[in-house]
Amino acid sequence: MRTDERPLAYGGGWLDRAGGLRADPEWISERLAGAGSVLLPLWRDRCLVSAGDTPVRLTGAAAAEVRGAADEVVFLGLADGAAVFAADLSGRAESHALRLAGADAALDVRALVGRLGPGDAAVQAYARGLLHWHRQQRHCGGCGAATVSHDGGHVRACAGPDCGRLLFPRIEPAIIVLVEAPGPPARCLLARHGGAPEGAYSTLAGFVEVGESLEDAVRREMAEEAGVTVTDLAYQGSQAWPFPAGLMVGFRATAASEEVRVDGVELLEARWFTRDELRERVAAGKPLGRVDSIDHRLLHDWLAGRD
Ligand SMILES: [Zn+2]
Repeated sequence: MRTDERPLAYGGGWLDRAGGLRADPEWISERLAGAGSVLLPLWRDRCLVSAGDTPVRLTGAAAAEVRGAADEVVFLGLADGAAVFAADLSGRAESHALRLAGADAALDVRALVGRLGPGDAAVQAYARGLLHWHRQQRHCGGCGAATVSHDGGHVRACAGPDCGRLLFPRIEPAIIVLVEAPGPPARCLLARHGGAPEGAYSTLAGFVEVGESLEDAVRREMAEEAGVTVTDLAYQGSQAWPFPAGLMVGFRATAASEEVRVDGVELLEARWFTRDELRERVAAGKPLGRVDSIDHRLLHDWLAGRD
């Protein structure tokens, strides 16, 4: 049972991505210069904010000045018919970027997420992820020549002779799994990760490898990290996690046995928790996962189920 059907943090933004319009450079140029267009400035993965941590949105002459100083400008989509762009000021000193944008501070969207509307958090995260990708793809991995942005910043093309390779924004999927015990009483498996403080438990997760399905990755990661064989995989939902390029895919699965074995490096400890134990932790003020993450959702959904 789902406790909450709202989109997870960083999803469900207010933009129409308007993918069919990106490939028209004339349309992009016209909208860039258009008086109604909006520009979100970012600096080194951070939102530029003013007046009570509100992300800055520029129009008109202020937007034009920032565009002129930006390393990259990308088209994010349309909002109520207005074109929305993001500009990367990472090449400037922080003080210069703040002054150009008329901002007070540069803050990570994850630090702001509780104070932003969900749609605003989604759009800021989208801009962060796309601009980050551009900074990492200045050169072609095939021939080493410079690459050039196309399609409103959703493709880069190699400018090298006899190459022309196209680079597309890359997503790195990871699975995150709430593992249930094979028999009563109902329990779920939580682990303490290397570097996590005493008593900080979360669900198990790992990156999907090349040549692997999501389901294969769930089975492999649970076996590698916790020595658990899992069955009855059930998809629970996914979360954009562009920090810098993640996509978290949530599952439930059932362990074939209660035996757990951790490697002591990646996972320091893994053990079974009943719903009552988790409720006690919540009552004691110990959060179940990061509040903006799918981990939190998986745990609270399970907690809302019946023993
Ligand atoms: Zn090339």
